[in-house]
Amino acid sequence: MKKAVVLLSGGLDSATVLAVARRQGYQCHALSLDYGQRHSAELQAAQRVAEQLGAAEHRLFPLGLGALGGSALTDPAIQVPQIATEGIPVTYVPARNTILLSIALGWAEILGARHLFIGVNAVDYSGYPDCRPEFIRAFQNLANLATKAGVEGDRIQIHAPLIQLTKAQIIRLGADLGLDYAATVSCYQADPQGRACGQCDSCRLRAQGFAAAGLPDPTRYAQTQTKKHP
Ligand code: ZN
Repeated sequence: MKKAVVLLSGGLDSATVLAVARRQGYQCHALSLDYGQRHSAELQAAQRVAEQLGAAEHRLFPLGLGALGGSALTDPAIQVPQIATEGIPVTYVPARNTILLSIALGWAEILGARHLFIGVNAVDYSGYPDCRPEFIRAFQNLANLATKAGVEGDRIQIHAPLIQLTKAQIIRLGADLGLDYAATVSCYQADPQGRACGQCDSCRLRAQGFAAAGLPDPTRYAQTQTKKHP
């Protein structure tokens, strides 16, 4: 069985990617990075999803990006915006996907895996530069220049199966693969029980995705007064 390292945040997109990789027959080694997110609910979600989808194993890698700060997701002094903002939002974690893929790449080489899966999406997304197809292509080049496996001709492939899908298409794909999205947490500031704020960018994209897919949204929201964005 082909081995793959799958980056699994516990959110909707990466859970779908794990379901896709499993369906394609990969033995999946799921990797979650505890990079100093504001909450641990999404890491618990990652654990649930890894179990549900039959990952061969699930590793949690501590990585204190909070020591650098610079993002609303890692620095408590920066507020998560409650409305859509212009340009690249403050929830962008500087160089995050480069850092995550680099760690996944190192683990893949150790495992003898030649496939990396990441749930980036360049359609319904927040405009992060490290979610674009050109970034994925560039990282794949780097991966093959930077590793023993790559220079010995055992090429490493980066798979981003969601990159050109809308959020609604992603949700339909996962639903078709039997994924239970109730296990996932997308909110940038979920409470310790994993209940979503209903207002951040990630909540908005998720709610709009379920509405557009015509599927019931299993998201649990923290406050009854929270406005949902259809
Ligand atoms: Zn939220």
